Amino acid sequence: MKLSRLLTLSTAMLAVLVLGMLGHITRDAWIRYEHTNTGLQALRLTQRAMVAAEKLSFERGPTNAVLGDRLPADPQRQLLLQQARAATDLALMQLERELQTDFGAPHPVDMAPLYRALSAARNSVGQLAAQNPAARTPALLGQTVDQMFALVPLALNAVTGYTLASERAYPRISRTLIKARYAVELREYAGRLGSALTVALATHQPLTEAQYQQLQLLRGRLAQLRQLLLAPGDGSSDALAAVIARMDDVYFNRGQQLVEQIEQASRAGRDYGMDTGQFAQRYVPTMTPILALRDELLREAQAQAWSDHEHARRELIIASMSGVAILLALTLLLLIVRRRVIVPLLRATRAVIRLGAGDYSRDPTGSERPDEIGDMLRALSTLRTNSIERQQLELERKRLIEELRQRADTDYLTGILNRRAFTKAGNQRLRGAHDRNESLSVLLFDIDHFKSVNDSHGHEAGDQVLIRVAAVVRDQLRDGEILARHGGEEFVVMPSHCTQEQACLLAERLRKAIASEPLTLADGHILRVTASFGVASASGPQAALDDLLHAADLALYRAKRHGRNCVESAG
Ligand code: GH3
Ligand code: MG
Ligand code: MG
Repeated sequence: MKLSRLLTLSTAMLAVLVLGMLGHITRDAWIRYEHTNTGLQALRLTQRAMVAAEKLSFERGPTNAVLGDRLPADPQRQLLLQQARAATDLALMQLERELQTDFGAPHPVDMAPLYRALSAARNSVGQLAAQNPAARTPALLGQTVDQMFALVPLALNAVTGYTLASERAYPRISRTLIKARYAVELREYAGRLGSALTVALATHQPLTEAQYQQLQLLRGRLAQLRQLLLAPGDGSSDALAAVIARMDDVYFNRGQQLVEQIEQASRAGRDYGMDTGQFAQRYVPTMTPILALRDELLREAQAQAWSDHEHARRELIIASMSGVAILLALTLLLLIVRRRVIVPLLRATRAVIRLGAGDYSRDPTGSERPDEIGDMLRALSTLRTNSIERQQLELERKRLIEELRQRADTDYLTGILNRRAFTKAGNQRLRGAHDRNESLSVLLFDIDHFKSVNDSHGHEAGDQVLIRVAAVVRDQLRDGEILARHGGEEFVVMPSHCTQEQACLLAERLRKAIASEPLTLADGHILRVTASFGVASASGPQAALDDLLHAADLALYRAKRHGRNCVESAG
């Protein structure tokens, strides 16, 4: 597998793993945060429900006062009842609003039974209060009071699900929440203790045995609840201790003393000295510290919940931020590896392949980098430079060899072939002509009286004559016709594919050309030279070059004898 592909693949795998891990961590943090959020909402709801329950308990005070009133009704008592009912309605409305805003109703709360029971109880109170006091029998009164009692559990039950939700979200605060509920219950039972006297106070009759027993039972229950509230817990702060001390002083001393006072008067057959309204006016305020205790417990629970919520929020932020940071770092790392390692490596690989194939056209880029890859690219660049130099040296060597070869074949003075080269080329041509069964001739010519040129004008002038004659003859020949210096002032011509007759004609043409070209020497002298020609043709199946030259030489010798500046042919 190619490196780049491997990197892409492993990058993708790593990214998936990291994303999965981060997703898991963030999801966990988010769930915890959401839990605390739900718990806080449930806590708010629990608080509202407790307040609503308290208002329902409270409403019983003015209700009892109205039930014990004479006719025509005391407007003051009516007003107090109106106010208590308004307070209950407001608390219920707030509870319902909280239910609607906080929850997309995971536990649909049906408040209808409570509303029905509430309006039925208020109706009963209205009907009974409208009757003559004498017609308000203990049975009727007891029935109405019971109707009022039944409302509180209805309100609390309605939100039990949310209370449990907030306890689940914050196991740490569940004990504090339970205590808050004990406080609500305590307030409820304290209210019932007061209400238990309603019938007796309203009818100005002694308490019945059953009522004594009920008072005893309620007091026991209240002492029990107080004990439960005193149990050491997480929220045993100084503020809480102060609130409990105040509850003991105000309710358990003064409030319960008031109840005992009525009880003693009943046993002694004395007048109570107060009716339901007056009793409520004195008794109800003693229950206020119980509510303060409830509120303090709720406040502590809420403070704890808030701190947990904040903690979860911080954890969520840290988890998501570190997730983003890890992803960024990973991306950066991969980009760096890609940009600084993989891509240059691929480039270097291509450069090495090019160098191997002998293509030195491009220098590998990036050799200015200060890292290890840069070192490699620089080494490649050096390799390329060396290779180019080697290539140039090789070319130079070839050129020199060619030059040497040419020099070895060339006559240094005239620039035409020398005798050695002629022997090689002549033999080759002779073999070719034989293979193709073609006729082949050679022309040998020698400058006439050349010695006298040297003698009269100097050796240098002789050289100029040699150069000039070679040039004149070369001009007359076609490409492919061989001209060579055979030695001294003697030259040889070998035309390609040529009969003896044609060769003689050529010799004649050359002779005339030499003779007709005067040469002006350096000293101003005009010189005319002539040459004598001997022509011979290949005869027989396997004529040797030497034989051919020998025949031509013989013919040349004859030309010299016949007076020079003429052409003679062999045979
Ligand atoms: P002939 O007409 O019978 O050929 O008379 P010739 O004088 O040309 O012949 P000979 O053989 O007597 O003289 C040839 C001379 O050519 C002798 C030699 O000094 C001269 N010679 C040979 N090679 C060179 C050369 O390269 N340069 C010069 N300047 N002279 C040369
Ligand atoms: Mg000669
Ligand atoms: Mg000569």
